[in-house]
Amino acid sequence: MSASPLILHAPVDGVVVPLGEIPDPVFADGVLGDGIALDPLDECLYAPCDGEVVQCARTRHAVTLKTQAGVELLLHLGLDTVELGGEGIELLVAVGDRVSTGAPLCRFDADRVARRASSLITPLIVTAADGWRLAKPSHAGGARVVRGEPLLELTQEVSTVAVTAPRDATGPTATRRLTLALRAGLHARPAARLRDIARRHDVSMTVEHGGGTAEADSISALLNLGLVEGDALNVTARGERAEAALEAVEALLTTLEADDHTVPSQAVADDGPLGEGELAGLVAGPGLAVGPLVAYCPPLPRVPREGEGEATEWPRLQQALSRAGEALAQAEAQAARQGQHGEAEIFGAHRAWLEDPALTEAALAAIRAGRSAGQAWREALDDEAERLAGSGNALLSGRIADLRDLQQRVMALLAEPGQQDEAAVPEGAIVVADELTPSQLVALAGRRPAGLCLARSGTTAHVAILARARGIPCLVSMGAALDRARSERAVLDGERGRLEMSPSAARLAEVEASLAARRHQVEEERRAAHLPAVTLDARRVEVCANVGSPDEAEMAAQAGADGIGLLRSEFLFLERSAAPGEDDQAHEYQASMRALGGKPVIVRTLDIGADKQLPYLPLPAVANPALGVRGVRLWQRLPQLLETQLRALLRVEPLGSLRIMLPMVSEVSELVAVRRHLDSVAQELGLTVRPQLGVMVEVPSAALCAASLAEEADFLSIGTNDLTQYTLAMDREDPDLAARADVLHPAVLKLVQATVEGAAGRCPVGVCGAAAGDPLASLVLVALGVDELSVEPARVPAVKAAVRRLDAGRLAAELPALLGLTDAAAVRARLTSWQTAQQDTTTTITERLPS
Ligand code: PEP
Ligand code: MG
Repeated sequence: MSASPLILHAPVDGVVVPLGEIPDPVFADGVLGDGIALDPLDECLYAPCDGEVVQCARTRHAVTLKTQAGVELLLHLGLDTVELGGEGIELLVAVGDRVSTGAPLCRFDADRVARRASSLITPLIVTAADGWRLAKPSHAGGARVVRGEPLLELTQEVSTVAVTAPRDATGPTATRRLTLALRAGLHARPAARLRDIARRHDVSMTVEHGGGTAEADSISALLNLGLVEGDALNVTARGERAEAALEAVEALLTTLEADDHTVPSQAVADDGPLGEGELAGLVAGPGLAVGPLVAYCPPLPRVPREGEGEATEWPRLQQALSRAGEALAQAEAQAARQGQHGEAEIFGAHRAWLEDPALTEAALAAIRAGRSAGQAWREALDDEAERLAGSGNALLSGRIADLRDLQQRVMALLAEPGQQDEAAVPEGAIVVADELTPSQLVALAGRRPAGLCLARSGTTAHVAILARARGIPCLVSMGAALDRARSERAVLDGERGRLEMSPSAARLAEVEASLAARRHQVEEERRAAHLPAVTLDARRVEVCANVGSPDEAEMAAQAGADGIGLLRSEFLFLERSAAPGEDDQAHEYQASMRALGGKPVIVRTLDIGADKQLPYLPLPAVANPALGVRGVRLWQRLPQLLETQLRALLRVEPLGSLRIMLPMVSEVSELVAVRRHLDSVAQELGLTVRPQLGVMVEVPSAALCAASLAEEADFLSIGTNDLTQYTLAMDREDPDLAARADVLHPAVLKLVQATVEGAAGRCPVGVCGAAAGDPLASLVLVALGVDELSVEPARVPAVKAAVRRLDAGRLAAELPALLGLTDAAAVRARLTSWQTAQQDTTTTITERLPS
């Protein structure tokens, strides 16, 4: 199962310098990947392993090799040697050459190089190693090695999940007594956040309550404490940053959790009498549905009961856990990309639970008792589910579906081949089930059910959150009577909390008419989605899409987007052990460009820092990361990253359709510096065409200085998510402030106005923050004069339709009054009544369709 290790041999006689001690943060911080360095005692670098030369620096100081297994290695002669322009260095290979271990790569004049470079220390960095793990170097710093001696070893990763002992930090210990203020108790999501706090602060942490103790590393143990709102608990942290960790835990557990997955107001079942053939439930997802009732009860994947011994079954289980973890990480990243933060958090919590040492230890014990990997996992999770069910705590029992989800997910990866356990659910059915796991709901959603009725589950269960996010009408807690529910044509009324199994013909006609009207509207919008969006008063507004991958770019093109208004390139950098190389990046950017078939594509350069972190690019821990080195500011610190990304971008075709956008710009000098760099790289590559270069307006200084930015920029794009955060001083990640961090606050609108006025006559202005897709905010943005709205691909048709219904001039006349209001709530209220008043006077969408 595991391939033989990959040995990297010393490329030169020299003295070992550990990665962290290289006097250059780009290498020392592991930005480019993990590795080691040598201070050379000879004047020639040799290949550390067999491979192909895939890159040679123009200035001859760096060579990248790629092994047959896809591992990429950078050998970088000295530090700051790019400045030498190749002086004193002779390359002995060219791109495309295949070399064997020990083949000479480059010869250099040590004296000349040492005089002009800051150091001769030569890093050997593993820049790409998907599926491989670098072992701890066997040589300590200062050790002398001889060329050809084994220096580093990479082994193929079986798993990233292992039974981990709770972290054993040393340092001061601190304890706090807290009272839990979370309405829903300590459930999986806050438990996962608690674990993250301990990890981020590098402390060991325990939570005690009523004689029970749980390590923060174990989600199950935390859940098993059964903490409910009002419980007193002691949290103990040990480590250098114990106090800071406890501070964060206190903020997490004692602040009233905002209801970020808003439960519909009709969550409580109507207590009026039940009609003939009716069942009641709690409304977990509003809306109406008509269809046949179809029972859904998929069996557990079949796995062998007996195992082939620990040596076989344990790695098998680890591999399955690792694959399940990767799938969850992907689902989490995709949900985050699509702005589904509730969903992303659910997947994140599942991932944390999957890594729970208590579960993996229980499974290992079952393997040792002779079970197969799949059966061991099944038994470990059955036991855990039983414990949760027996806790007598409704909240804990509510998490059993999540546990079952993890059970099925991993068992499916270990199932015997040839199983067909897909339960048949026709499109348009009202699905009836005892309970659903979140993954089952996601899979079912693909089959487009009309609605969902669950005997169990609550309105805050993860499955309910997912149903709401997908707009599926859903009733939960319907009880055992649901078992006997049968109907060829039922009505699910997600307003009244009723399942009507024998609706009258008149009732069916009424519900169907209402559904048909909605479908008609959606169909009309979809039909017109590829046509331009022009307001009633003849203003053309580009409606583009925000994407994070070529697949999403494809979706955007199909949805009728006029282009890509924001390609968040940081998603390419996630879930890797090192930054993607130039080839990988160029390939991805080109695929997105191709999907759009010549329409403009705005690629934002890497935007990390604060809420967006990369594990292999640790940024210094600072008190206020949102105000720290992030976005475009990173480029001063990590110029190689920018260089690689710009080179990759300059390789796409046609360059005339490409627009490069810089995030988090606060003053024009940042743009000027990047423009200069872009020009010099383009010149070096002999390019005659330059892509447009623009900036995001995400901080008040950029909005207020829009005129100077617009002098230098080819376009501006307002990032309303961050602009709102920085204007209102409200963290966009803070659930307690979510309802108040509203783009319609007059202060934010005034900054949008300042941006549009500053840029007028100089360059166009778009909006790529979430406000562009907000039904009310998008109208105000157009009235304020923005030229482009960039929204989730699926929203393109509806946003175009809304633009066509808008008389921008008429709304613009209301702006002084709107901007004079005191807060966002007042603006929303006034806009809503303005819109209602307009509805009678505007022409219908069909009359407005361009021919
Ligand atoms: C924004 O800040 O509005 C934006 C579009 O960028 P992101 O959400 O990726 O920070
Ligand atoms: Mg932003």
